[in-house]
Amino acid sequence: MACGKYLAEAGHEPIVLEARDVLGGKVSAWKDKDGDWIETGLHIFFGAYPNMMNLFNELDIEDRLQWKVHKMIFAMQELPGEFTTFDFVKGIPAPFNFALAILLNQKMLTLPEKLQTAPPLLPMLIEGQDFIDKQDELSVTDFMRKYGMPERINEEVFISMAKALDFIDPDKLSMTVVLTAMNRFLNETDGLQMAFLDGNQPDRLCEPMKQSIEKNGGKVLMKQRVKEWVLNEDDSVKHIVMANGEIIEADEFISAVPVDVMKRMCPEPWTKMPFFQQMKQLEGIPVINIHLWFDRKLQNVDHLCFSRSPLLSVYADMSTTCKEYYDEEKSMLELVFAPCSPIAGGKTNWIAKSNQEIVDATMKELERLFPLEIGKKAPDGVGAKLLKHAVVKTPRSVYAAIPGRNKYRPSQETPIKNFTLAGDWTSQKFLGSMEGAVLGGKLAAEVVSAKAKGMKTAGLKKINDDIMAEASTFSAEGWKRPQKMEDESAVVFGGGHVLDKNDEQQLMTIDPEQMTELDGRSQATKDAIQEAVLNRTR
Ligand SMILES: Cc1cc2nc3c(=O)[nH]c(=O)nc-3n(C[C@H](O)[C@H](O)[C@H](O)COP(=O)(O)OP(=O)(O)OC[C@H]3O[C@@H](n4cnc5c(N)ncnc54)[C@H](O)[C@@H]3O)c2cc1C
Repeated sequence: MACGKYLAEAGHEPIVLEARDVLGGKVSAWKDKDGDWIETGLHIFFGAYPNMMNLFNELDIEDRLQWKVHKMIFAMQELPGEFTTFDFVKGIPAPFNFALAILLNQKMLTLPEKLQTAPPLLPMLIEGQDFIDKQDELSVTDFMRKYGMPERINEEVFISMAKALDFIDPDKLSMTVVLTAMNRFLNETDGLQMAFLDGNQPDRLCEPMKQSIEKNGGKVLMKQRVKEWVLNEDDSVKHIVMANGEIIEADEFISAVPVDVMKRMCPEPWTKMPFFQQMKQLEGIPVINIHLWFDRKLQNVDHLCFSRSPLLSVYADMSTTCKEYYDEEKSMLELVFAPCSPIAGGKTNWIAKSNQEIVDATMKELERLFPLEIGKKAPDGVGAKLLKHAVVKTPRSVYAAIPGRNKYRPSQETPIKNFTLAGDWTSQKFLGSMEGAVLGGKLAAEVVSAKAKGMKTAGLKKINDDIMAEASTFSAEGWKRPQKMEDESAVVFGGGHVLDKNDEQQLMTIDPEQMTELDGRSQATKDAIQEAVLNRTR
């Protein structure tokens, strides 16, 4: 949609085709039968999201961002019910405000640990992107060991950071991701300040984008699944065929589908090209977003909390943090559940588990973290009662930023003369994030606009030597294409859903690995499965 917005503003007439009946993709939300909003994900906006901030400004909806106090809040594992914070002092510029926030925190790291942590990170500030890119072959844990960082920083900071950034454990996450985030956050005084949208994302963010596209002469159509790109003899796109059989012709075609969907839809002649072969090195990571409605108001933190728990990533009490969901009497927690699978560092395939099993595991974890409010140890012997839940599974969300992946993210410009790529997984300096998706869309719009004006484009990103070395061996048969789907489930489009039997069936067809139960298997088998998954993308 960002791409459509910028193309329409540049005088083009884009048609945005969305397969689902709701806009937003991984930022979509819908109402349940009680009228409560269910979100694909708990989404946080950062001060260091320049393209997103520009977008809000251009759409004149900046007042919809609810900025929270500039701090980071961590649940204390060893002191259940308690929190500790990194407080950013007003008036102190970046990066000193971050250094001071860490130094002032007395509960997480000792002074020698803090002093040992800083030197390995300094080249990131001095050498910048060059140093950051060079660390992509190392996991966070590899980097820590190589540069002698104290082990405890992993437990205290990196586990929650890695899970918040990519739903993955630090021994699986590329250090480039952590350094990229830190570099962006540290270079801007308000970079780490966080905002919540003031309500559901389709109405509060997607609708103004749609209106902007339409005001400038474009169209946004829902329930329009692109089935196939039909090619000319020179491999350029002739037209697209929609699921309803309609044929759409255009001067330029842009795909903004997630990488796993793109792999499935890639026309056969393109699968032999090194450019598209890069996609085989990328795959989406599973994540689960849980909504829990309680019968009472829980301890009230008007912010995002980092759980630092082995099962959970970040969470927030949306009845306090978000204007539209505000409730003075009852809490609604939204929690991100990760890691969910072997590729993310987990030993359980949580996508294959029932919603009830996931909720039970979450409640058990909350009981451990907040014994005074949840579970039998609460003063009333019962604790807060869970009124209802919603479990949204996204089997393939942002690309798994495991070591060595960054070099395979393709440029928006492709070798196909009338075909451009967009999406958070394409090459841009932000990670798989909303900011990355907006920037990817903007860059794609720039490619198309430049071509239309006959101007020079930035050119294709260099394809890595290992792909080029194998180029002559590529064949359409060798492209292990997941089965094509003819149905309409959100999971088929790389989105999230409260899975019903139909969704599960479709997931089983396109992505059986996600539905494989790992419990009951020996540790050696689990390790072997994890190794096989990692090897596949290595
Ligand atoms: C649980 C969760 C929490 C997150 N939290 C944050 C956060 O706090 N901050 C942050 O910045 N990011 C966060 N993200 C990441 C962020 O949501 C994504 O990076 C971003 O939304 C990706 O946007 P995209 O446009 O690249 O892809 P998508 O949002 O996946 O959009 C792709 C679109 O293509 C459509 N599509 C697919 N196939 C077809 C087809 N054949 N025909 C037509 N349409 C099709 C899909 O339906 C979808 O709408 C989170 C993600 C999740 C899942």
